[in-house]
Amino acid sequence: MAETKKEYDLISVGAHPDDVEVGSGGVLIDLAKRGYKCGLVIMTEGEMGTGGTAEIRAKEVENAAEILGADILARFDWGDTRLEDSYDKRLALAQIIRDCRPKILLAPYPHVGHGRRQSHPDHVASGIITVNAANLAALKKADLTGEPHLVTRIFHYFLPPGVIPNFVVDITQHFDQWIKALSAHKSQFLNPEKSRDYIESLTAMARSFGMQARSKYGQGFCAVEPILINDIMTLAEIASETEKKVDPH
Ligand SMILES: [Zn+2]
Repeated sequence: MAETKKEYDLISVGAHPDDVEVGSGGVLIDLAKRGYKCGLVIMTEGEMGTGGTAEIRAKEVENAAEILGADILARFDWGDTRLEDSYDKRLALAQIIRDCRPKILLAPYPHVGHGRRQSHPDHVASGIITVNAANLAALKKADLTGEPHLVTRIFHYFLPPGVIPNFVVDITQHFDQWIKALSAHKSQFLNPEKSRDYIESLTAMARSFGMQARSKYGQGFCAVEPILINDIMTLAEIASETEKKVDPH
């Protein structure tokens, strides 16, 4: 575990060792290439996964983080399939937020919807803990060390079916590297004991998000709070830049 007091631009939080890669890996690769510092926080060891063990999965996420160009800031053992919001967990994550002072937090969507992956109870709980920890980190009187820190944005991945992303990040340029990061989780996605082709499913997910926003591959996010825009024309400029890169088919 990288014990660090360094500052980070973004922290992506996951319940299981592969969540951050699946939901936000392409974005982290993009940010690392552009000189931003990203960190990962993982709330459980993923010991209940059909494939792999806590030890195997710990090694896999180290390999994946290296491919993402991100640091693992903390790995907790808060119980795979038993993750629940609690004051102690909020405090632990809030301390990391204070120490690392990220502008953006990414975490699973914090509300229950339908769908096995998107609404895994650990995913929902990790989103709730993250939102609550962000609030604590900003409180002057919280039982934490360091100065209060207000995260500018929290965006959620793992959107349940029916929840439309507010925005999609174009990851077309980083698609191969993203697949490489996912493939580091061999016990999950390249496990001959599992019949499903996970890499194909995850590719389809990225293609689907991309198509919704007129790009090839993308990762979708939802901001629970509305996003404030100063100049609405900047949104038009981003859109036209992306459209220039899209295949006309
Ligand atoms: Zn998960």
